[in-house]
Amino acid sequence: MSLPASRHHRLAAYAVAGLILSVVLAVLPVANVREQNVTAFLPLFAMAVFVTEGLTAYLLWTQFMITRGPFLAALSGAYAYTSVTVAIQLMVFPGVFSPQGLLGAGPQSALWIWAFWHGGSPLLILAALFVRRRFKAPVPHAKTRLVGLLSLGVPVCLSLLLCLIAIRGDAWLPQLVDARSYQRLQNSPSGVNIAIFTACTLLYLVYSTRLQTLLELWLGVALFAGLGDVLVTVVANSRYSIGWYVARLESVLASSMVLGVLIWEISHLYRELHAANARLSEFASRDGLTGIFNRRYFDERYPMALGHSQTGQRSLSILMVDIDHFKRFNDTLGHLRGDECLIAVAGALQGSLRRSGDFVARFGGEEFVVVLPDCDHEMATRLAENVHAAVARLAVAAPFTEAGCVSVSVGVATSQPNAAIPAAELLAQADAALYRAKEAGRNRVTAWQAPPLGLASIQARSV
Ligand code: GH3
Ligand code: MG
Ligand code: MG
Repeated sequence: MSLPASRHHRLAAYAVAGLILSVVLAVLPVANVREQNVTAFLPLFAMAVFVTEGLTAYLLWTQFMITRGPFLAALSGAYAYTSVTVAIQLMVFPGVFSPQGLLGAGPQSALWIWAFWHGGSPLLILAALFVRRRFKAPVPHAKTRLVGLLSLGVPVCLSLLLCLIAIRGDAWLPQLVDARSYQRLQNSPSGVNIAIFTACTLLYLVYSTRLQTLLELWLGVALFAGLGDVLVTVVANSRYSIGWYVARLESVLASSMVLGVLIWEISHLYRELHAANARLSEFASRDGLTGIFNRRYFDERYPMALGHSQTGQRSLSILMVDIDHFKRFNDTLGHLRGDECLIAVAGALQGSLRRSGDFVARFGGEEFVVVLPDCDHEMATRLAENVHAAVARLAVAAPFTEAGCVSVSVGVATSQPNAAIPAAELLAQADAALYRAKEAGRNRVTAWQAPPLGLASIQARSV
């Protein structure tokens, strides 16, 4: 689905259309003035159109295969038709690969292929617009491949058939070319019809879509440039005249409009995807109740932070923070008040951190863990006291406790700069320190101390 066209997009599109109109009006009076025969020009121009139309067809087709919108399939067919036709025209053009052109082309094959290109392309776009109006629902899953295949196959076969007619029927098709001049095109029904087809398609596009999406808007500008191309070509009368050169440039412009908008949309979607991804990963790392980081974030970042500190031979400290008597808080005041208390305590912990590398996460239930990279034991104990005081300052009423308000117990553990310690072991040390704070009467900060030799080592809690 194409993005909606904003006011800025419309202004840009109208400015480009205005520029095209000015060029056409400026060139028309001198269109048939003969210029030098620059032999490299035609192959360069044809390659540019072939590649841009081919890429446009491919991008529209892949969008169809994803969204299954019938309009995209039909439009990709129109672009595939032009890409193939212009490639064949390049092969048969006199003087590019051989003096008469390849594939047994006659003197006017290239002009007839031009006519089939410029007549067929707007007709196929018109057909795509009818498809857009008639078939609004996505193509059923089971038919997507078939429709995708037909949407490219039919226009490509049509192009091959018409090019075959232009090449084999050189002798019996109405004569339009005399030497380098194709003046007869002006008076032939073909020239007039091509201009009418293009104008009608443009009008129908504006009428049926109101140019609401970016794709429709720039398709309109492309058709407008195509109309300018046809008018200037017809008035130019002969190859290698000013009009002929300018018309070829307009062809390149027309063919790159929709490609440009598709590329713009893809990069826009990429930006959106990147932002959505960032939002999603932020969402996945946050605790739903308190908004601070969750256990998943802690499990991922804490071992990394410890690894960094050990590589740089620096200390890392962690604080295990547990709300005292929280079960009783819930039982007495209710779970909703309990949730509010958790949110307030999480905010107080977060507010106590000062350095960008520090972080606090909800470890589970009413337990929190604070990670302090590059922080020695003394500094960690000071910070733990700050955290403890910050919760006390909240003064959340808890009438059943000695202090009368909610308190926390904090266990502190610090890694030594020169001795590696597994992440789980440091965490177990902080947990053991917290256990000692609880045993000593709660509402306090306790640092981990190595047990006297001979005592069983503390069981590590897994992270
Ligand atoms: P201690 O002082 O020894 O830490 O005692 P405690 O009551 O705080 O600890 P205990 O482990 O016995 O109880 C923790 C309580 O925390 C039990 C549980 O209902 C409560 N809790 C855990 N998660 C939540 C939560 O998300 N919201 C609420 N309201 N309560 C929670
Ligand atoms: Mg507790
Ligand atoms: Mg607990």
